[in-house]
Amino acid sequence: MRSLRNQTEILVQTSADFPVELGAEVVYGTDSAMGKIVSKYNLAKIDLTTQAVDQYILDSAAKSKEVWGADPDLNAVLNFVNGLPTYSGGDVSMKQAAGVSTRGDALLNSMAGNLYGSSSDRVGAKGVSDDLKIKAHDNKPFTVKTNPLQDLLSSRFSQIVSKVQLNTIVKSINYSGDKIVITDKEGNQIEAGKVIVTTSLGVLKGGGIAFSPALPLPRLLL
Ligand SMILES: Cc1cc2nc3c(=O)[nH]c(=O)nc-3n(C[C@H](O)[C@H](O)[C@H](O)COP(=O)(O)OP(=O)(O)OC[C@H]3O[C@@H](n4cnc5c(N)ncnc54)[C@H](O)[C@@H]3O)c2cc1C
Repeated sequence: MRSLRNQTEILVQTSADFPVELGAEVVYGTDSAMGKIVSKYNLAKIDLTTQAVDQYILDSAAKSKEVWGADPDLNAVLNFVNGLPTYSGGDVSMKQAAGVSTRGDALLNSMAGNLYGSSSDRVGAKGVSDDLKIKAHDNKPFTVKTNPLQDLLSSRFSQIVSKVQLNTIVKSINYSGDKIVITDKEGNQIEAGKVIVTTSLGVLKGGGIAFSPALPLPRLLL
């Protein structure tokens, strides 16, 4: 679950004494890993495709696709975004790959940049396309009707929640020996047989974690 949930400056904005969804409430894929957990718990779902018609903002006006009609800039953005799973162009940013007009820029930024956690001049079209190609679920968006996803996760993973160590910034991972040694910011060490690193690529590219031996260069250039 997104680190968003651990951001106290956001959490404190609610005075409720029960968990409140603060964004990050949409599950993508009725048959995705998360979708299957929801199904197993037999929770009531809301199919988000039936709740509202998508609105697209151009010229500071929000209108549905039908109302915009044959608007060339809207269609250029939609064609690019919808065609991402079969994108075969170069390893360039969404903005460069889409080559849409200045009028369509903000729309492209929201659909191909912000959606992937950054901006269209920073998100790579090829990387996203490769990811979409291997997506094995139906990608249908839904939300859970009554239970916050936070409850769902802490219930499903209740046996490991107590083992999770929060607020522990890893500074180095030494995997040169039989045991892998993880060292945190305070100098505390943990030994492990296997380590899975799921920080963002930005952390890896910025050298936030020192790997010994160093990660292969191609990995850092991804
Ligand atoms: C406002 C917002 C709303 C969203 N809404 C949805 C939604 O409704 N549905 C949906 O499916 N997706 C949503 N997303 C996207 C989703 O949150 C991300 O795709 C997902 O969280 C990515 O998961 P991750 O594990 O790859 O990265 P993250 O969740 O970012 O996890 C990476 C973790 O690594 C930790 N880390 C970084 N460096 C170190 C270090 N040196 N040592 C130790 N730990 C470190 C970070 O603190 C972080 O907790 C939303 C995103 C945002 C910003």
